[in-house]
Amino acid sequence: MPVLMSNLNMNQLSGLTEYSIFNILQSPNCTGFQYFKNYAISVVEEINIALYQQQAKNTFHLDFKTLFHFDGESYHEDGVDHVIINDGVVITTFEVFYNILSRYPILPYLSPTPAALGYNLIYNFNNEQYQTTINFPIDRERRIIAEYMAMFAIKFIILHEIGHHYNGHILYRDSLVQNITKLNTFTNNLAKSHKELLDLQTMEMDADAFAISRLIDETLILISNDTRLFSILKCVDDIYVIFIIAIQTLFLIFKKEQKTEEDHWYSPYFPTFPRGCINLDCAKTNIAFKAKGIITPDKFVELTNSSFIAAEKYFYSLYGVNHYQDAIDYEESMSAHIKEVEKNWVLLREKLIPFARVRLAQ
Ligand SMILES: [Zn+2]
Repeated sequence: MPVLMSNLNMNQLSGLTEYSIFNILQSPNCTGFQYFKNYAISVVEEINIALYQQQAKNTFHLDFKTLFHFDGESYHEDGVDHVIINDGVVITTFEVFYNILSRYPILPYLSPTPAALGYNLIYNFNNEQYQTTINFPIDRERRIIAEYMAMFAIKFIILHEIGHHYNGHILYRDSLVQNITKLNTFTNNLAKSHKELLDLQTMEMDADAFAISRLIDETLILISNDTRLFSILKCVDDIYVIFIIAIQTLFLIFKKEQKTEEDHWYSPYFPTFPRGCINLDCAKTNIAFKAKGIITPDKFVELTNSSFIAAEKYFYSLYGVNHYQDAIDYEESMSAHIKEVEKNWVLLREKLIPFARVRLAQ
């Protein structure tokens, strides 16, 4: 847990929702870090209830940690399902969304005057000190919207890792590689052949699909009972505007954080551009099934197109990173590759069945 320090007025620098990791007036146990830990635990408890009812052979036994200096990862050891989320990713995510909302209103009716307080964040880890500047939007509503967007993005990461456990990827992976618990090591050893690489990419997309499906469920819950959010939003569509911008911005953060040339078909991860496209397409499919009477798939696609471009514009202006060249590069290769992964799902599904917690999607 990083140690937060401030040299400015605390009130102006605190988060306004339970999601914020910057609720610095509260005890460290009450910041967003604790919220996200409780969230992961509650998701797993809910899944376990369903698993008990189906008399599934494997329920979850979750150990969730946030640690600085580790990438998000999941592994299974001694009967325990581990999910580890990088503190640094959580801090970066809040930094980015506060920064975007400091500059852009996102929604036309939010306070038009951009105003932000710069705040020098210092955190200590293992005797090393890290510094970053956070721009907090002064406007209360902008700050709250930033925190909801960060919440969607961080939940996506957590759900993705839980999805790997849920759909049997981790136990399948372990069955292939004895005594290896870390994805990176596994990746180095196995990503040599096209076939296995395709399996890895397919599992990544499967974990993403799990995350998106649950997040769409959560947007519906927010629509039905979040009076705080809907005292700011003027229509239901706008929750999807902030949702889409949040997810697309997360993939831009991933692209920015990639230190080497990993953004390539030969990585176990899809390049962030097609990955974002596939996820938003998956969201549309979920909308078609789950959000009848709330938003039509056509309207969702219309919002996706405009919000996708908005996210690219905001992020590029602040961090100099966008997907413009990727969109050109992948225009032709993308659909062929996505088709290959879809075809591979049919084959991989058979291999995952013995390890999955539940019946797998067709
Ligand atoms: Zn993954």
